[in-house]
Amino acid sequence: MAQPPEGPFRSFYFDCDSTLSSIEGVDELTRGMPEAEQRALRALTEQAMLGELPLEQVYERRLHVVAPSARDLAAIGRRYVEHPSRDAVATVAALQFLGKRVGIVSGGLRQGVAALAEFLGIDDSCVHAVQVLLDADGRYRDFDRSSPLWRNGGKIEVMRRLPPDHHPVLFVGDGVTDLEVQGHVARFVGFGGVERRPPVAARAEVYLEGPSLAAVLGVGLCDDEKTRLLAEPRFAFLRPMLEQPQAERRPR
Ligand SMILES: [Mg+2]
Repeated sequence: MAQPPEGPFRSFYFDCDSTLSSIEGVDELTRGMPEAEQRALRALTEQAMLGELPLEQVYERRLHVVAPSARDLAAIGRRYVEHPSRDAVATVAALQFLGKRVGIVSGGLRQGVAALAEFLGIDDSCVHAVQVLLDADGRYRDFDRSSPLWRNGGKIEVMRRLPPDHHPVLFVGDGVTDLEVQGHVARFVGFGGVERRPPVAARAEVYLEGPSLAAVLGVGLCDDEKTRLLAEPRFAFLRPMLEQPQAERRPR
């Protein structure tokens, strides 16, 4: 594959839920609830990810009902760590081996997302998510409403505030709030490996249909970076993903 015209990219930012991790964190917390309530909350998440409802509307309602405690947030973190998406660990390690900055931009809850970041070796300063505010006993109080990430367009704002040396950026995500950054970063890559969201599949300039997140390396690295990576024995198993990226590239 030819060298990416906007590359080489300096940093790779990933969404968390259904991108770096194969779960939707908040939905995990609804497990103890009555079945009908669980279904209603899952439907809300889905509508937000498909762009059918404004994120802020879904966000407040969902968090108010779920009201996660410190214990719940720790549980989400554990679930993220137990369920990375396919090849997520190797993908992040490979990018870091090449000296790329790796970050997370998520509308998820910061306390949970940070646990996954730590597991993946992602620096906390590159983790952007919504902090849950707790009282002294670890009970839910509110969430950080000053974060842009509980509203549509929030990820664009986070990208705008990145230090200049993080650019050019490649951004990877599964949902409509991820797709919003397309045109605001050097390259947006839609990831359908966990959940295929039709509006994202239809509009993403690059869309990965396969289950492995490592396909990001195929579309995001230039030829000499791929060569350096494959010369390293622990990354040699990634060769098929680098040589045949299962991606569709559309002209802008
Ligand atoms: Mg997601």
